Amino acid sequence: MKKQMTYEQFVEKIQQAFSGKRFTITSQREIVLRIIYESDDHPDIDEIYLRARKIDQKIGIATVYRTVSALVEVGIIEKLDFKDGKARYEEAATCKHHDHLVDVDTNEVHEFFNEEIEKLKQEIAKKMGYELVHHRLDLYGRKIKK
Ligand SMILES: [Zn+2]
Repeated sequence: MKKQMTYEQFVEKIQQAFSGKRFTITSQREIVLRIIYESDDHPDIDEIYLRARKIDQKIGIATVYRTVSALVEVGIIEKLDFKDGKARYEEAATCKHHDHLVDVDTNEVHEFFNEEIEKLKQEIAKKMGYELVHHRLDLYGRKIKK
């Protein structure tokens, strides 16, 4: 989905999210941040690690894992589960809200946004006496053969 922030604003947002907490943006963490900012294909940890290794051969999987986990904790990254046994990650700070349709044969993830569905989610929560604070909708499908 389209970014609503520049990379610089993204980093600023991360610094805000960690204000008061111990999280220094080291050069290796910076690599992880940039990969996540630039990915729009919901990579898993191994994929993020592979991309990081292309930039810095010395980067370890533990650094990648810890950076991603820390960012999930403060809500900068969202951890996604598309039922294929792998946790996938998506940058959530600058991305416009959207839902996903997963191809069950190829595990390809498509993104969509539907105004009516969004309204419906709000209405359902409201009817049940809740204010909506977070929502996700994942659809799983198989391509219709023509
Ligand atoms: Zn997405």
